[in-house]
Amino acid sequence: MPSAVELYIIDRFLKIEGMKVIDYRIIEDIGIFVSLKNTRSQTNCPKCGKKTDFILHQNNLILIRDLPFGEHQVYLKVNRRLLRCDRCQKKFSEDLEFVRERRRYTKRFVTKIIEEVLSGDIRNVAKRNDISEQKIETFLKDLGQELVEEKPKNLNKLGIDEIAVVKGQKNYYVVLVDLEKRKVIGLIEKRKEEKIIEYLKNWGEEILSNIKEVSIDLWKSYKSIAEQLIPQASVVADRFHVMKQVSDELDAARKKIKRETEKIKNKSEKETILEGLKNSKYVLLKNQEDLNESDKEKLKELHKVAPVLTEMHALKEELRNLFETSKDWGDGLLNIADWLKGVSKYFPKSFGTIKRWIGEIIAYFDERTTQGVVEGINNKLKLIKRRGYGFRNFENFRLRSFLTWHFTS
Ligand SMILES: [Zn+2]
Repeated sequence: MPSAVELYIIDRFLKIEGMKVIDYRIIEDIGIFVSLKNTRSQTNCPKCGKKTDFILHQNNLILIRDLPFGEHQVYLKVNRRLLRCDRCQKKFSEDLEFVRERRRYTKRFVTKIIEEVLSGDIRNVAKRNDISEQKIETFLKDLGQELVEEKPKNLNKLGIDEIAVVKGQKNYYVVLVDLEKRKVIGLIEKRKEEKIIEYLKNWGEEILSNIKEVSIDLWKSYKSIAEQLIPQASVVADRFHVMKQVSDELDAARKKIKRETEKIKNKSEKETILEGLKNSKYVLLKNQEDLNESDKEKLKELHKVAPVLTEMHALKEELRNLFETSKDWGDGLLNIADWLKGVSKYFPKSFGTIKRWIGEIIAYFDERTTQGVVEGINNKLKLIKRRGYGFRNFENFRLRSFLTWHFTS
């Protein structure tokens, strides 16, 4: 028999609530078997919900795999008692909080395996832990499903964005983000208004009516969804998406000038302009403060051959600054109105968009909510998507994404 001190040490080491170590055995090449005794004499009856001094109906010994100890596998021998409530007289199986329901593994064991799989690959994890790949798939599915079905808590600021299913194609997954907690709270397979509405409705009125802000890109369906389902929230057009539209228009202008230059008959004129345009893309798209000396030189060179592009660059930077420096809603409105006065000939498309979305754009100045965090989130999602791990369909992508956020943030 192990000594009391040994048992005490193992008990402290295992730290399982409601259980006490009463014996252990080491079996060569198989593992350590620890016998536990239930110490609880009271529990909540799942049938009537009351606290009960239950009556033991039947013992039921089960073996549960726990975290390994060094090279040894650890198994816990536990009595999952069948109890009878002394109030309602109904029978129920004792709830063991440290075990995942019905499974023969401790929660912490499952957590460890999932963490390993998320940063590795399933085959190696299975081999290393002496557990089947199939079992691991079950762990992932069970816990992932729970997380997918979980509804967001204390959601104040909702961000709606999307990622391309395949880069460059026009199919999108919609990404719902808690902008305060910086985590994914929903993934929807299709960027279709009715699908998004269905998903949000499933959260229920209580959650929706609590949302104070909805941050969206410049897609009018998102606005209409927010107005229908979350009418109390202020809808904010994300400033990064506004800037992206302006940058895209600038880049389109650069490409157009390049195309037109290619058609010039005079060879030396053509080459001079092309030389000035060369490598100008990233310089034009960069923020002013990130330009180094050679970038600034490049802009000067570009100015000689295509002044319209450097003027557009300056206007883009002006708008970006204005988002930074406008003091409040009123100030922001005046500044943007000023900015708009000169831009229609340079940025006809953005001019129209900003005018149409002016209310949502200046709403930014109230709370200064942005989807800045979303970029990081989207990069992580893209990584998950790329890694794939044999998870090809959307459901698996969603499971893995939720698991990743659950375990890494
Ligand atoms: Zn009861």
